[in-house]
Amino acid sequence: MRKKIMSVIIASAMIMSLSACGSGSSSAASTEKASEAVSEAAEEAAAGTENASAGGKLVMATNAEFPPYEYHENDEIVGIDAEIAAAIAKELGCEIEIEDIAFDSVIPEVTSGKADFGMAGMTVTDERKQSVNFSDTYAVAKQSVIVKEDSDITDIDGLKDRVIGVQTGTTGDLYATDDYGDGNIERYSKGMEAVQALSQGKIDAVIIDNEPAKVYVAENTGLKLLDSAYTEEEYAICVALDNTELLDKINAALAKLKDDGTIDGIVAKYIKSE
Ligand code: GLN
Repeated sequence: MRKKIMSVIIASAMIMSLSACGSGSSSAASTEKASEAVSEAAEEAAAGTENASAGGKLVMATNAEFPPYEYHENDEIVGIDAEIAAAIAKELGCEIEIEDIAFDSVIPEVTSGKADFGMAGMTVTDERKQSVNFSDTYAVAKQSVIVKEDSDITDIDGLKDRVIGVQTGTTGDLYATDDYGDGNIERYSKGMEAVQALSQGKIDAVIIDNEPAKVYVAENTGLKLLDSAYTEEEYAICVALDNTELLDKINAALAKLKDDGTIDGIVAKYIKSE
C-alpha cells in the first residue's frame, strides 16, 4: 500500500512539473484535487500520455502571413498575436514555440493535440465552436473589401456576380461563398496572393480582414479599400474542447494583460491610430 501511495505521489509530482504550462489532460493533477484525480492522472502518466506542452513549452499554431497580427520579419515571427502570446506565456511561466502552417490547418492542429492553442487573427464563429473552445476575445475586426483604385465597384452591393479573391478557410471565404456563390470565389493560400491577383486584374475584389487589408493597400499601388465593411468580427485564441484548464489560464492571463494595459500597448505598437 505504502509503495502504491509513493508511486502515485512521485508520478503526480512528475506530471506537475511536465504540465507547468497547463496543457493537456494530465494536468488534472493538482494538490487541491481529490486523490482520485491524482491517481487517474498518474495512470495516464504511466501509460505514457504525452502532450504538446511537455517540458514547459506551449505550441502555438498560426499562419504567419497576416500582418500586423503575425508575419515574418527577418528570421522571426512577429506581430500583435506573437507578442500577446509571448506575454501570456510569461504569465504562465512557459516558453512558446510557434508553428507556421496554413490558416485552414490551425484548428485541426489544435484538435489533434499537436498544438496547444491556435492564435491567428482567428474570428470566433459558431461553426468553429463545434470543434474548439475560444478564449475571451482580445480584438475586434472587420472583413474589408479591396478593389483597384479605378474599379467600378463602389460598395458591397457591387460585389454581386464579380470574381472575389479570399484566403482559403477564412471568414472572408466562408461568408463570401455563402453570399456570392462558390463559382464567384477564387481561393488563395495567402492573402497577399489574392491581392497580387487583384493588382494583375485577374479578379475584381479581395475580401480580407481590415488590418491586413490596410497593410496590403499601403504596400501595393493602385488599390483602395471600400468605405463600408463586409462584416464585424472578434478575434480569440482557440484551444481543444477538452483542455479547459489551459483555456482558463489563458483567460486569466488575458484579463490581467487587458487590465494592466499590456495588450493596448502591443496593439498601439503595430496599429497606428488614424
Ligand atoms: N479572421 C479571419 C478568420 O478567422 C482570417 C484570419 C487569417 O487569415 N489569419 O477566418
